[in-house]
Amino acid sequence: MSDCIFCKIAAGDIPANKVYEDDDVVAFHDIKPAGDVHFLLVPKRHVESLAHCSADDAAMLAKLMLLVPKLAAEQGLAGGFKTAINTGRGGGQEVFHLHVHVYGNK
Ligand code: C5P
Repeated sequence: MSDCIFCKIAAGDIPANKVYEDDDVVAFHDIKPAGDVHFLLVPKRHVESLAHCSADDAAMLAKLMLLVPKLAAEQGLAGGFKTAINTGRGGGQEVFHLHVHVYGNK
């Protein structure tokens, strides 16, 4: 989506402090960290929110979830971390491109 900031980060058009990238997913540090470590895991393909996912998105969602503990450990959160997927305005979502918050203190 041309006006989506996370699509622009995924495409490399806007800089971000990336911690991981492959063909399907990008992860980068949140600009307003809620802990010593706070990064976002984002599918490169534009999906508005968790509420907009279907069975066709199962592989993408599984990939995101399995990357969470791996990247958290790599970022120094092997002792534990929090995750959040804010969904919809009522759920506090501000960027309408699906993303998983991963954060915690070292
Ligand atoms: O889940 P929600 O949509 O509320 O969170 C969006 C998150 O994206 C915020 O934590 C914000 O700090 C982060 N953000 C970012 N880089 C941007 C724009 C937003 O890390 N360029």
